[in-house]
Amino acid sequence: MPSLALVLDLIAIRDCIACRVELDQRGLCQACAADLQATLHPLATRNTLLTQAWAIGTYAGTIGALVRRSKFDHDQHASALLVGLLRHALLDGLPAVVDLVVPVPTTPWRIALRGFHLPEQLGEVVVEATGTPMRWALRRRWGGAQARRSFQERLDAGDSLFAPVGTVAGHVLLVDDVVTSGASMHAAAAELIAAGATSVSCVVLAAAGPLRRVRVGFC
Ligand SMILES: [Zn+2]
Repeated sequence: MPSLALVLDLIAIRDCIACRVELDQRGLCQACAADLQATLHPLATRNTLLTQAWAIGTYAGTIGALVRRSKFDHDQHASALLVGLLRHALLDGLPAVVDLVVPVPTTPWRIALRGFHLPEQLGEVVVEATGTPMRWALRRRWGGAQARRSFQERLDAGDSLFAPVGTVAGHVLLVDDVVTSGASMHAAAAELIAAGATSVSCVVLAAAGPLRRVRVGFC
């Protein structure tokens, strides 16, 4: 008796994992495959709390589509492809020396829903590539499904999105799947600096644009 997951896989429409155009078999269409490059691109960080920031691609591009498939459709092929892309992009290591890798925590209900945490998987790739230790040095304070106020309302009120877990030291690398407005990344960097980091940088799969300074609580 095949498992339900296997049955669903067998009857699944064969389409491009990223843009969903119909294909002979499941994978990436030529246009999406051509759009993927496993290279770290530096993002502008002037006037932000981040020392350096890198992204592999843009939120509007194929990599952004793959992240959305992974996060919202729980597509394991997309997740595996993204993890593989970061591994490839880090074949020559990270272009900076970091002392600690910290995954940006997702809301617990989201992790429970998905059963896995993409930032943690990406963090493990950085650990493999650099030999740097990883630790959950941040936890989410809020942002769950039951949050009474919206994300923007709470940011406007100066609430901090994250709380530090213990102290940190040295150059800390935040790892996340996307950076869109930059607000969460800024909030995470602010907490790590308050917890003892001398500098904070980040690596993400997809960026919506250059990092901007965003008002986050005390910073
Ligand atoms: Zn495609």
